[in-house]
Amino acid sequence: MRNEDTNKSPVCTICGTEDFSDCGHLVADLDVTFFECEGGALSDKFHDFVDILETAFSSSVNQGQNFQTNFGFYQAHINELWRSVDNHAEGGSEDVVGDGSIFFGLIATLLLDAGANEYLGPVVIDGGPGCSSACRLFFSEAPENTVTEMYNLLATTFTNATAATSSN
Ligand SMILES: [Zn+2]
Repeated sequence: MRNEDTNKSPVCTICGTEDFSDCGHLVADLDVTFFECEGGALSDKFHDFVDILETAFSSSVNQGQNFQTNFGFYQAHINELWRSVDNHAEGGSEDVVGDGSIFFGLIATLLLDAGANEYLGPVVIDGGPGCSSACRLFFSEAPENTVTEMYNLLATTFTNATAATSSN
């Protein structure tokens, strides 16, 4: 992994070490080419974020709503994600990360809003031909708390949306 501009190893934005997989500050190592969460506190909880979107999307399908409702700050991301999921007409919801670029855009926004610092790349992992990937690295003083805060931000978004829909 290297900073494509400087050819140096990326460093933790909190403590400055190159050994950032062990310093305890890594919130997320997002592979934004192959759309995988490769490390950090978020990787253990990553499926929770898929689950909350699946649940919201499938309940919306069951209630016959389209998703053009009030999702507050994340509205654009979530609406775009909703439109990218092509199987929701049949009530399927297993493919909420179908468009990885939108899903990872939402995750990155949540990371920053929850207070994570992003290492300013560009960061690449060199692979074989066609296998190099771009990464985004996020750090904080207390990564587990940051992930909890991310989850609360997203959960609150859906709670508020449900309340707004119910009161109509
Ligand atoms: Zn660190």
